[in-house]
Amino acid sequence: MGQFDGQPSIRWSLRGRTEEGDEAWLIRGIARKLYRCPGCHGDIEVGDEHTVVQFVRRLGGTDHHHWHRRCAEEILVGELTDLKRVPAAESSQSKLEARGRVRSGRRRS
Ligand SMILES: [Zn+2]
Repeated sequence: MGQFDGQPSIRWSLRGRTEEGDEAWLIRGIARKLYRCPGCHGDIEVGDEHTVVQFVRRLGGTDHHHWHRRCAEEILVGELTDLKRVPAAESSQSKLEARGRVRSGRRRS
């Protein structure tokens, strides 16, 4: 990876690809309720800075999960290929949902 520290920020999100060919977007978030991290099954408390992982599926559709920053970096990022830093404005919920309505073959990068 080199130029990344594996962590999204206010300005930058990260986009990679899973083994199945889905897009995985890593977005900085602030918890507005209590979440459970899928990496360690620990709590993410209200107000905690964390990583929202949103998948845009190859065949369409999206889903997202809330991860501890460290868990996402240690568990998830290593499984992604083609990781790129993208401006955070490109990773808004509405843009990703719109992206999920188009099959990947017809998506513009
Ligand atoms: Zn965790």
